[in-house]
Amino acid sequence: MMTSSIVVYVLEVRFYNNGKEDTLYPVIIKNEHQTILVDCGYAGFMPLIEDAAQKQGLSLQELTGVFITHHDIDHLGGLAELKNRYPTLDVYTPVIEAPYISGKEKSVRLMQAESLFESLPEDQKSGALYFQELLKNVQSVEVDAVFSEGETFMEGVQIINTPGHMPGHVSLYVPESQTLIAADALVIEHGEFEIANPAFTLDLGAAVESVKKLKRLEIKRMICYHGGVTEEEIVAKLARLISRYPPPPVL
Ligand SMILES: [Zn+2]
Repeated sequence: MMTSSIVVYVLEVRFYNNGKEDTLYPVIIKNEHQTILVDCGYAGFMPLIEDAAQKQGLSLQELTGVFITHHDIDHLGGLAELKNRYPTLDVYTPVIEAPYISGKEKSVRLMQAESLFESLPEDQKSGALYFQELLKNVQSVEVDAVFSEGETFMEGVQIINTPGHMPGHVSLYVPESQTLIAADALVIEHGEFEIANPAFTLDLGAAVESVKKLKRLEIKRMICYHGGVTEEEIVAKLARLISRYPPPPVL
């Protein structure tokens, strides 16, 4: 019998956001040689992630690296402090995301926020400016290695490009256990899959195509950064999501 060599642990990171409880689900992927955290929360989240890791019998001290799926603030914000605390950590990113994470290119989320600003109702503008400040304050971090579509890391984790939410966004697939770490390719809301923040998805058509691509994989366990884990009715839920976003009519 083949024994499993890659284990995926889902961390449950609870916090309060404007007085409302919220939860993020980063993961730790472990094999014989490496222990990799996938996405690391907002700035200041290290103690919360450490607590969540300890609930799984793990510690951030064991980490050998961090993989960032895309440069949104809730995935990247905590990276600098993690790297300061554990300087030997390797930082892995999708190839398209690397210049944004290392600060060589301006955040596409910040550019989007700036371009939408004038069209916002007056009562949303102070909140929007605050969000822009948060994005400007994300500390950039040097990237040690980049990965492209179809490449494998940790001897069995496949990189799946899932653009739309952001151009360089990737999901991670572990064929051995048919586990998909979706990141923000989709979220779980009220038990159903949904596109993450459709109004702020940089390319909604591409995001829906990415969901169709995921539907072609054999997935037993779906892990969403927002919404958590499901093992039930994955194919049907993906089909229902796709059907809610029919292609625009050809004129
Ligand atoms: Zn995101």
